Amino acid sequence: MTATALLTVGVLALQGGFYEHLTLLRAAAAHLADAESRPSVEYSFIEVRTPEQLAQCSALVIPGGESTTISLVAAASGLLEPLRHFVKVDKKPTWGTCAGLILLSDQVSATKKGGQELIGGLAVRVHRNHFGRQIESFNAPLSLPFLSGDDGAQTEAPYPGVFIRAPVVEEVLSTSSHDQQPVQILAKLPGRVNKMKEGMSQATTKDDAGDVIAVRQGNILGTSFHPELTTDLRMHVWWLRQIVAASNKQSS
Ligand code: GLN
Repeated sequence: MTATALLTVGVLALQGGFYEHLTLLRAAAAHLADAESRPSVEYSFIEVRTPEQLAQCSALVIPGGESTTISLVAAASGLLEPLRHFVKVDKKPTWGTCAGLILLSDQVSATKKGGQELIGGLAVRVHRNHFGRQIESFNAPLSLPFLSGDDGAQTEAPYPGVFIRAPVVEEVLSTSSHDQQPVQILAKLPGRVNKMKEGMSQATTKDDAGDVIAVRQGNILGTSFHPELTTDLRMHVWWLRQIVAASNKQSS
């Protein structure tokens, strides 16, 4: 009989939607425990505000919010370097949503004056506030093919995508070092009415395959949208099972 692993999963709780992520993570873990007769993993979830709390974690979520604020508070809390180590050296599973995706990217365009400190790790360049300002936030049904096959998921229904001053991945950067995994594009937002350009008199529809809104590079997952602002557990279930629990199995 295999022993149950105890995994502590943290949510960076400096600003933004950390409480909502914790709520969905707890619900997703309960869903997983119900689905398995003998769960191989038991989770505990904590808010992370200090390097000591981060050190307890096997995986981390960085929520949406305001990436410049999160990085300023992280720097003031002595968390920036430990976060970089967690993601890039220890390579622990880390999921960034919206502002979290920005912080996990190696490069960002359309930053505030003076730029901003990033954690990095994802070999992509994101474009901040790609769809415009707060007032141009929108919901869109998403097709997330990577969720299918996960038996905890209802694979058919579209996923409710919530976009609030969302970034998109505008470029995948070349990965030079051997220990870097390739960047996988997990999802695009197709044919969206694109109002990004200031002063554009008419909205234009993109005729290419669409904007990249979800990527994975090894231990790092980034999504432009906010799963924590929905009641749909599928993303959190998938991340816990396919990335967090799977990576624990590999390393044990
Ligand atoms: N555009 C915001 C930023 O730069 C992110 C918005 C969000 O997380 N909802 O941080």
